[in-house]
Amino acid sequence: MDKQLLKEFKKQLEDRKEAVISQLKNIGHQEISEPGAEINFNANFPQYGESAEDNAVEVADYAKNLSVEREMEKELRDIEKALQKIKDGTYGVCSHCGRPIEIERLKIRPESGSCVSCKTAITKGK
Ligand SMILES: [Zn+2]
Repeated sequence: MDKQLLKEFKKQLEDRKEAVISQLKNIGHQEISEPGAEINFNANFPQYGESAEDNAVEVADYAKNLSVEREMEKELRDIEKALQKIKDGTYGVCSHCGRPIEIERLKIRPESGSCVSCKTAITKGK
């Protein structure tokens, strides 16, 4: 892959990583873990009040936080994997078929780990 392009993807991934982490910090708190371990967040349980109504909203908002938190954390892992691949020099190669991932796809989603046809096959298989 073109060095300049690779640099751009790396920058995009690093920016995205920071954005995802700051979003995660808004809805959750970071788990204290061993140095070098994966970053892990837990969704916050909101505290609005003691009434049944407040409790219902708390539970609903917690569920929302939890699903956003899971989504974001998954994205964070994908971003970290992609950044690791840049370090290893294997970025932009499909992890399923070993062919290069379409540049257009990487431009939309730089953390992609598979090419369009493999992704389509996986999605259809589900
Ligand atoms: Zn593929």
